[in-house]
Amino acid sequence: MNKAAIISIGNELLNGFTTDTNTPFICDKLIRSGVEVVCSLKLPDDIEKICEGLEFVSRDAEAIIITGGLGPTDDDLTRQALAHFLKVELEFNERVFENMRQYFISRNYQMAEKNRVQAYFPKGSEPLPNPIGTAEGIAACADGKLYFALPGVPSEMEKMLQYSVLPKLSKTAKSKAIFIKKLKCFGAGESTIAQMLGDVMQRNRNPLVNCTVRQGVITLHIVAAAADEQKAKTMALAQAENSKDILGELVFGEDDQSLSQAVAEKLTKEGKTVAVAESCTGGLLAKMLTDIAGSSRYFTCGWVTYSNDAKIRELGVPVDLIEKYGAVSEQVAMAMATAARKKSGSDITVAITGIAGPGSTGQKPVGLVYIAIADKTGCRVEQRNFRADRESVRIRAAQTALNMLRITLKNR
Ligand code: ATP
Repeated sequence: MNKAAIISIGNELLNGFTTDTNTPFICDKLIRSGVEVVCSLKLPDDIEKICEGLEFVSRDAEAIIITGGLGPTDDDLTRQALAHFLKVELEFNERVFENMRQYFISRNYQMAEKNRVQAYFPKGSEPLPNPIGTAEGIAACADGKLYFALPGVPSEMEKMLQYSVLPKLSKTAKSKAIFIKKLKCFGAGESTIAQMLGDVMQRNRNPLVNCTVRQGVITLHIVAAAADEQKAKTMALAQAENSKDILGELVFGEDDQSLSQAVAEKLTKEGKTVAVAESCTGGLLAKMLTDIAGSSRYFTCGWVTYSNDAKIRELGVPVDLIEKYGAVSEQVAMAMATAARKKSGSDITVAITGIAGPGSTGQKPVGLVYIAIADKTGCRVEQRNFRADRESVRIRAAQTALNMLRITLKNR
């Protein structure tokens, strides 16, 4: 079984009440087991729609994993839909019913009559044990394809996938080991990075490089497949080195390393201290720098000078600078960074001033941000124009400041 499809079922997934986290979790586990995910669907609690979905994904996939809709309530229809699709009856399973009864007794709960439906299984299918809940899963085989139905509750689904589904799939998967190496990048857009890397993102390539973006951080997922894990690892790491050479200082870390961690490591290694002066980010940069355990080794202090008055009073930014250029200007950003360095005695200081929006009082546009860095060599400033909502402007500004700090440290 090398091709799988995932179907997440539940009205709550389609009306936006619940975010589907099951699909990405299953995708990750399948890919790491050497199984390709060819399709994923989100469907409502509706027998007809579920049958249509099963029909559709069964054209290409050899293993179909369904989550959700196995509960006891009237809107849980997955078992009925699967039986209908497989053209079989639902059969009562005495053993599962007894297990459920014991589950309730051991917790001193009265089992509702409605729970009885959870002991019905499509004829010819096999119940999949649920180590932490009442709803057992279903494993069925038809026309050479495997069908698995698991509960929607993520913690239950995860355990059952790991202990029941993946072992069954690996028995039939063609022997293939997968190794995934991640590279974290910041400072250029997805398309620029893709262009720099050439054809590595082309389908069917091995190793294949996939790319995801979150708040300006680009993660390259280097996926290598080989006969054994060591070979797959060697291939993925060689591709990672090659990509690092091409991307240079755009790469800040590997695997799950964050920008804050990358900066923390450099500051610690170099024995340098840092202070911040923030306006539009309201302390977010200080938070990111102190998110890391042991940050007292490098973080000295921060100012959140939101008003002009605070910039003048707390940091000593000259009034005429604000009057002439405005609080959101490169001159004021540099004055904030320089003043913070003088007052804190830190090796490096970072200052941020900008317009997070949604409204802008003056001529300057929402998303305009100036970030200044001061150290013993002087002070430099960068301008950014983020096109995003208030929260994202603030996050992107703080992330950009961290990245500037990282590059400043690297270039010493
Ligand atoms: P239950 O016995 O709780 O009814 P179930 O198998 O019927 O289990 P659902 O009723 O579909 O599962 O979902 C139970 C809960 O699990 C939902 O309220 C939701 O919070 C969560 N859930 C369901 N599907 C997903 C999903 N795809 N991603 C994340 N959470 C989910």
